[in-house]
Amino acid sequence: MSSPRVGLGFDAHPFAEGRPLRLGGVEIPYKHGLKGHSDGDAVLHAVTDAILGAAGLGSIGEQFPDTDPAWKGAHSALFVRRARDLAAERGLETGNIDVLVIAEAPRLAPHTGAIRKNLASLLGIPPDRVSIRGTSSNGLGFAGRGEGIAAMAVVLLNPKSRIQSPKSK
Ligand code: MG
Repeated sequence: MSSPRVGLGFDAHPFAEGRPLRLGGVEIPYKHGLKGHSDGDAVLHAVTDAILGAAGLGSIGEQFPDTDPAWKGAHSALFVRRARDLAAERGLETGNIDVLVIAEAPRLAPHTGAIRKNLASLLGIPPDRVSIRGTSSNGLGFAGRGEGIAAMAVVLLNPKSRIQSPKSK
């Protein structure tokens, strides 16, 4: 693919008792975790979906069906790496990514540094090309009632530089 491609991802999971809360691959101390077939990491799911969308590879549900026992309890970093590799096979690499987490609690701010570092490492880009922020919905909707967490991600994929392509060596 020869031009930059933009992709959008969204995910939401309800809180569930007795699970650790993982967002962006980082464990965050909180009274609840997120319910899901995998580890319920809504941030990594939104990021995966945005990469797949930008590369025209369908949805996260198509690539990693929740009916497949292979993904039960899976660490969602697997999904991000797989989406990144699929995009790379199509000649695309991550330019930058912007992630928004919508939650009434817990506060994300103390953890954004760790999440940014982890996302950068998963995507193979410098941390200054990763943005992650939290916001509340001011009491509105499921996030406002403290029933779960939603995440949105926008990613820019650039055509891989020809200099780095094995074919041009
Ligand atoms: Mg999900």
